[in-house]
Amino acid sequence: MKQYDFLIVGAGLFGAVFAHEATKKGKRCLVIDRREHIGGNVFCEEVEGINVHKYGAHIFHTNDKTIWDYVNSFVEFNRYTNSPLANFEGELYNLPFNMNTFYQLWKVKTPEEAQAKIQEQVENSGITNPQNLEEQAISLVGTDIYHKLIKGYTEKQWGRKATELPAFIIKRLPLRFTFDNNYFNDKYQGIPIGGYNKLTEGLLSGIEVKTSIDFFENKKQYSDLAETIVFTGHIDEYYNYQFGKLEYRSLRFEHETHDKENYQGNAVVNYTEADVPYTRILEHKHFEFGRQPKTVVTKEYPCEWSSGMEAYYPINDEKNNDLFKKYRDLAEKEENVIFGGRLAEYKYYDMHQVIGSALVTVKKYLA
Ligand code: FAD
Ligand code: UDP
Repeated sequence: MKQYDFLIVGAGLFGAVFAHEATKKGKRCLVIDRREHIGGNVFCEEVEGINVHKYGAHIFHTNDKTIWDYVNSFVEFNRYTNSPLANFEGELYNLPFNMNTFYQLWKVKTPEEAQAKIQEQVENSGITNPQNLEEQAISLVGTDIYHKLIKGYTEKQWGRKATELPAFIIKRLPLRFTFDNNYFNDKYQGIPIGGYNKLTEGLLSGIEVKTSIDFFENKKQYSDLAETIVFTGHIDEYYNYQFGKLEYRSLRFEHETHDKENYQGNAVVNYTEADVPYTRILEHKHFEFGRQPKTVVTKEYPCEWSSGMEAYYPINDEKNNDLFKKYRDLAEKEENVIFGGRLAEYKYYDMHQVIGSALVTVKKYLA
């Protein structure tokens, strides 16, 4: 018998939920991560008494009461509602696109006036069957919003023309004809009180975890430790890039501490013009209504990804999805390896989705 039932590669949400549930059922788990901390991309670092989202703003939202109750069983969540602003050429607009935005853009005051304005722009564009992100965006919100609030941000974020990007990316954003600045439509939303580490520490409590360990430095030795491997890293790396490398988008974060209580008055301000090199500025204390004397802000610069960098966003275009399918075919033939999470499934998963997916997966394998 091997030392462990499961070797879990990656201490992000997928790995942590899997490990928690398997341990609860009496399985012996070892979790390893190549970063020096647990939590994957939801990890927070405390600076000046503020929980800094080290890998970008993370706002938990879900419609699924089971998932909401699940995360709240580890840590209480606050009432934070994400209401980002967009700064375009020095003017501020509310997001997501709603009656406040339409008033700021066109001074329209009723839903009918706003709908008519958008309708006119959509008709003038002549787009009937949107094939890419640009066409999808214009056919949803018209050309003014597209040019001021979408095009610049999107092309910076993805490093590609909006005409070369899949339409589904923009469908994430709500469009509303009410004065409601809530970025999400979901029923439940919030930030863990005390930060995300409380969630991942709770999930991994009592489980053997080793950080600063790269599975690939000794793949064979680590694989031999356990009956089954749960792999949440890059699927193409697992197969030695034999069909080629999947592409990702990476980010560079510039963290700054300012000697003032309040820098921008909001947790997230997006910069939607092409000429500003960052996409957003986060002010972390506002996620938890902090009143600390100092403040920490983070500028998020999108950048091209290459091996060795953190891979934040899968590029789910046709070329990459086809390549991913080749790796997935190999993965499906594995008997003792489970692939899960954003990197191994090459999917633009939100936190609630990754937790849901881990719960379904662990249930299936423990049945
Ligand atoms: P990860 O968190 O990436 O964890 C995988 C872990 O595996 C990493 O810690 C990595 O170091 C480790 N690993 C990889 N390879 C190896 C190896 N060879 N050996 C050892 N360890 C390895 N979701 C929301 O719901 N709301 C948001 O507001 C939100 N904002 C986001 C903002 C940004 C900038 C990004 C990038 C994502 C955001 N997300 C958000 C998505 C959220 O981060 C993910 O859904 C979630 O963190 C995915 O968890 P995971 O376990 O799949 O992956
Ligand atoms: N987006 C945009 N303008 C904005 C915010 C978002 O055009 O001010 C587009 C952009 O293409 C982005 C997508 O909407 O990639 C999804 O936005 P979201 O805020 O969900 O991105 P994430 O938090 O995943 O980075």
